[in-house]
Amino acid sequence: MATTEARNVLVTGGNRGIGLAIARAFQEAGDRVVVTHRSGQPPEGLEGVICEVTDTASVDAAFTAAEEIFGGPVEVLVANAGITRDTLLMRMSDEEFDSVIDTNLAGAFRCARRAATGMIRKRRGRIVLISSVVGLYGSPGQTNYAASKAGLVGLARSISRELGGRGITANVVAPGFIDTEMTAVLPDDQKKAYLANIPAGRFATPEEVAAVVRFVASDDAAYVTGAVIPVDGGLGMGH
Ligand code: NDP
Repeated sequence: MATTEARNVLVTGGNRGIGLAIARAFQEAGDRVVVTHRSGQPPEGLEGVICEVTDTASVDAAFTAAEEIFGGPVEVLVANAGITRDTLLMRMSDEEFDSVIDTNLAGAFRCARRAATGMIRKRRGRIVLISSVVGLYGSPGQTNYAASKAGLVGLARSISRELGGRGITANVVAPGFIDTEMTAVLPDDQKKAYLANIPAGRFATPEEVAAVVRFVASDDAAYVTGAVIPVDGGLGMGH
């Protein structure tokens, strides 16, 4: 990959799962990495800042703390923090709908808005939003989650149009089924049904998502913006 200079990379929800794999991939490539976490200690070998993405003041404080660690602005933002609160449409409460939108969509917006200031000043930046195949494919029992993940596409595309002339790209990476705590809770029969529809015939590892995130954040991907890049073993067939 053509990126040679170390960048300042912030990964939300980088304390576990896909976020942690992304953080480690950037770190192994020589970038400076800070992860956000909500409690406890950051993973070994990584710098961490406390951040609750549903709270603007917490996002602001986390960026300020990260900028102090870096000694400069965040140059690569990976908005990865996300939750599910699955249930069928007719049973879904306002709270179940709102909390997922507030975390997955508004949380990414808060982080991108805060990151933009420093990126505009530097005239360089990479914003990568972690969506899901479900955002464009739909999924029963996930109206809240799918809506939040589809919303990230409009968010990234609008950021691309606003900031594209300033050396900033905004892209969406849409994973399919990845082996993490989020999918570990799925019932076995549901997992089997999903597997039957995945051309690759398996779930992915978090590292396979991380490799694609690193590519869209690289100098090689300078002309890729407003894109939705699936990492789903063919499940969504390019949706
Ligand atoms: P995990 O449940 O393993 O991790 C979720 C991360 O998000 C945790 O670090 C969690 O922090 C953080 N988080 C959740 N809510 C908040 C919040 N309000 N403020 C700050 N941080 C928060 O999920 P995955 O690693 O599986 O998923 C990561 C991303 O990838 C998510 O956006 C998810 O929707 C997406 N994705 C996952 C797929 C999969 O198959 N696993 C498939 C497609 C997309 P804490 O540790 O404090 O709870």
